[in-house]
Order: sequence, then C-alpha cells, then structure tokens
Amino acid sequence: MIFTKVGNGSRTFFWEDNWLQGGPLSIKTTRENLLNSPILPDQKLDSLYHDAQWHFSQSVVYLFPDIVGIPPLSTTDDMFVWLPSPSGSFSLSHTIRWLSTHSFPKPWHHLIWSPFSIPRCKFSLWLAVQGRLPTLDRSSMRSFTCSRVCKLCNMVDETHNHLFFACSYTRPIWISLQHKCGLHIAPSSWTDLVEWITNRWPRGDLRSSVNKLVLSMAVNRIWQERNNRIFTSQRCSQIAIFRQITNMVRQKLLSIKVKDSPIARRLMLDWDLLAFIRSPPEPPDLTP
Ligand SMILES: [Zn+2]
Repeated sequence: MIFTKVGNGSRTFFWEDNWLQGGPLSIKTTRENLLNSPILPDQKLDSLYHDAQWHFSQSVVYLFPDIVGIPPLSTTDDMFVWLPSPSGSFSLSHTIRWLSTHSFPKPWHHLIWSPFSIPRCKFSLWLAVQGRLPTLDRSSMRSFTCSRVCKLCNMVDETHNHLFFACSYTRPIWISLQHKCGLHIAPSSWTDLVEWITNRWPRGDLRSSVNKLVLSMAVNRIWQERNNRIFTSQRCSQIAIFRQITNMVRQKLLSIKVKDSPIARRLMLDWDLLAFIRSPPEPPDLTP
C-alpha cells in the first residue's frame, strides 16, 4: 500500500521498498537471483549512485530492464506515499475502502516487519517463513550429487522445519532463548509457529516486539552457522551462538529509548539491562 517516491535515495531499500512500479523488486525475481545479486539485502539506492549517475551491474539491468530509464537522484528526502489515499497521506476512510477491494496481506507480515528488527535479520526471517532459504533438500532437487544431510547435526536431511525446529544442534539454542523470553513452545513447523505468534504477539506490544527481534536474530545466526559449516571451516558451539544472539539483542535494546513502566522494567531485568532504563525525573523537593 506504500509507494516510495525517490528523492536522494538515502531511505529507500533497493529490494524491499516499492520504488519501481509494481511492488518490491524482491518479489519480482527468484531466490537464486536474490542470493547471487551483487546488491545486498539491506542496500539503499544512494549507495548505487555516484558521480551523478546510477551504477547497476549488467545482471541487475538484465533482471529489471525498466531500471535503465529511472531519473537521477535529487537532493530532496525520499517520500513514502500511502497509495489508498489520493493525497498520499494516511486516511482511515480511504484505507478501509482500499482494503474492501484488495486482498489482505499475509498474516506473517507483522512478524517480519517488526520495528526493532535489523534488515539482514528481517530478510533471513522473510525467506525462512516462506520456505525460500536454499536448504539442502531444495538444492539437491537440482543436483543429485549434493548431500542432503544437515551440516549442524550430521544426522537428518536438512529441511526448513528440521533446521529450525527439530535439529539436535539448534534445539538447545531455541530452548535457552525461549527461557530468556519467558516462553515455552514447541512448534514443529513454520506454519505452526506463525499461527501461534499471530494469535499471541500483538503489534505495538513491547515484549512481543522484543520476541520478534530475538526470533529474527536467531534465524539469521543459525543460517549463518549452517553456511559457515558448508562453505568454510568455521564452527561455533551452541553456547557461543546463544551468547552472540543475546548480546546482539542487548545491544539493540540499548539503542532504543524505552520509557519507564512495570513491563519495561521486567523486560530490561530479563535482559540484564535494568540499569539503563530511562527513569522519569525526580519530583522537586518542596520541603521547607
Ligand atoms: Zn540437523
């Protein structure tokens, strides 16, 4: 529903934002093209523009021929236009009218686009939820010589559901993270998890937003560990990965201004950050 009117390109993500008519470019190409592209998941338009001209590789131009005719960047800020409204600004009446004639977004959208999450983690989660990560069961469909065995446990064929919900290597990481988040769930598939989250993690809820942040960071780190084992000799222990994820969450929470409240205090206590919460100013001392 949002179209990006490009100005200086500093706020517009090449893959995720709807800046070239017809929706985000990430949904107009294949998974392989996305992963092999020289343009990274969190790259913005201004990084592709130097010396008053665009610098797109031939492979990108081949995928998106319309990109050749786009105008140069300007000095104005990028603008996000609310398409259901003729003025481009949000209007509840126009939005309701638009929703009545268009299909609703997928139920997992709010899970991916959490305000706290960082782009590369959101991108990994976005691919995982849709079953679009290039897991070995999918790769082996194209190459019969490729082993399907999970490189984390070396016991079972690698699938999306095995890697994130059933693997003997990743399971202790999830259990530890759930304990940190005060959760006790045992989904067996992405479908189960999305359904569970959709019914229990409302938008705008502080703890739910942090839980989504943890989920996206865990998916990204587990996928990175899997890739490290396939393409390099690097490997980490489960406890090391758990600590890396919790440290990343703590660093992200420190960058967010959290107002003092009982819920915020409990949350920051759980993440050992209570000392950093922003307290309200002390009332003036009026004693004579
Ligand atoms: Zn495994």
